[in-house]
Amino acid sequence: MQLMKKFFLSIDQGTTSTRTVLYDFRFKYIDQEQIEIKQFYPKPGYVEHDAEEIWEKTYKTFRKLLKKHDLQPAQIISIGITNQRETVLGWNSKTGKPIGKAIVWQDRRTSAFCDSLKQKGLEPEINEKTGLLLDPYFSASKLSWLKNKSKAQFLKKTTLFGTIDSYLLWKLTEGRVYATDVTNAARTSLFNLTTLSWDQDLIKIFGLQGIKLPEIKNNADNFGVTNLFGGEIKISGMAGDQQAALFGQACFENGQIKSTYGTGCFLILNTGKEILRSKNKLLTTIGYKLDNDVNYALEGSIFVAGSLIQWLRDKMKFISSAPESEKLAKLADSDNEVSIIPSFTGLGAPYWKPDLKAAIHGLSLETSREDIVLASLEAIAFQTRDLLEALKNDGAEIKSIKIDGGMANNNFFSQILSDVLSIDIYKPNNIESTSLGAAYLAGIGADHVKLSELADIWKADKLFKTKKSYDSKYTRYLDRVNSLI
Ligand code: ADP
Repeated sequence: MQLMKKFFLSIDQGTTSTRTVLYDFRFKYIDQEQIEIKQFYPKPGYVEHDAEEIWEKTYKTFRKLLKKHDLQPAQIISIGITNQRETVLGWNSKTGKPIGKAIVWQDRRTSAFCDSLKQKGLEPEINEKTGLLLDPYFSASKLSWLKNKSKAQFLKKTTLFGTIDSYLLWKLTEGRVYATDVTNAARTSLFNLTTLSWDQDLIKIFGLQGIKLPEIKNNADNFGVTNLFGGEIKISGMAGDQQAALFGQACFENGQIKSTYGTGCFLILNTGKEILRSKNKLLTTIGYKLDNDVNYALEGSIFVAGSLIQWLRDKMKFISSAPESEKLAKLADSDNEVSIIPSFTGLGAPYWKPDLKAAIHGLSLETSREDIVLASLEAIAFQTRDLLEALKNDGAEIKSIKIDGGMANNNFFSQILSDVLSIDIYKPNNIESTSLGAAYLAGIGADHVKLSELADIWKADKLFKTKKSYDSKYTRYLDRVNSLI
């Protein structure tokens, strides 16, 4: 029994799984419960989730963790929610039932629609207002698709729309709170970065007049309470997963940067109080907002990182587990000339080529599976360098990066990253930065901790320093990418 102790619970609803993570009142990681969620691929380019399954599994992991540690609701200081961003759905406010499947961020079905808006010359206006580009990745074109599928359903008074955070919050509060936070809102293409509110011009551009959208709150805020676990528990933190990771990595200063290597890779630079516009196709977005204080950010998104390792494991059968990639890559011929361009779902920043397919170059009869595994780790590092070069060209000065996500467990990859980027790579002692960030936000929202105290809690576990130059291999990779696009 831990009756005297108090805790935070983070709900981390990711692309491949849902977890609930337990932190103590000093934000020390205690335990987690995790369940995989089903991926639906009904057609080429389509990726869907079952929102009801997401909710049921969220509820299940939450309950299981409370039970396992014999925790009473009164022991939970508050809940933080973090989630896969951009994924959208509609649901019925009377029954709570989702309307069809949620359309996932990876889904490319609105590629042609986005092209048609581009041809109408609308991208500069969208970019100016949202900081985003016109790409199927963001929620608005997905919402247009839902509207076109059933206009009557779309306009019904009882149909609510939102990203996964809004749906989970609505379920947790049994329909009492219909809200989102600034970071999730900023990824929809309907949110104006300057006014910090939904933008009617954008709603019109995407043909979404009449849509019901949630109230936009700060990242540490009063999100209501849940009564579903035998007593009242406060919800006081919320952020999209990448922004939660930025917060969990304690990147509170202008110029601090984190890179998360999960399914995809997302690099975010805190740019402080100013909106910094990228000239190199990076995204301008919200880092976090506390009270009236907004921290903006520049973001580079790579769609394929850990999923390349999964592909090596599940489809190529080159490895039997993700960690085995480290062992095999070390056995590769480091002078091999293989380059992998992992654009399985198009190339993200800074290229933005949604329809490009992946390629392997430089195979010879000497090429081994070890070489392919090494080239895969290098490919993820090379894509990160693309982002870093774009940031540098935008004027950023970067001396080090804090990394997290599943791939940060791979020390050989972390070393390659330092070599390819020629900078220091820090790995924190808790690589679950996403759930930690949500717990931090919940802590601030519950008046339990101040921002200034959090920076002292963050500790580096490992530092990777550059050992060799990767410039010629990177140049070869770049030439090959340029020959494809
Ligand atoms: P997400 O939150 O996107 O579901 P995670 O942060 O849990 O992802 O990371 C899982 C990803 O990391 C998987 O794609 C997996 O292939 C990769 N991964 C995990 N451990 C390793 C490792 N030791 N080496 C390389 N890749 C790894």
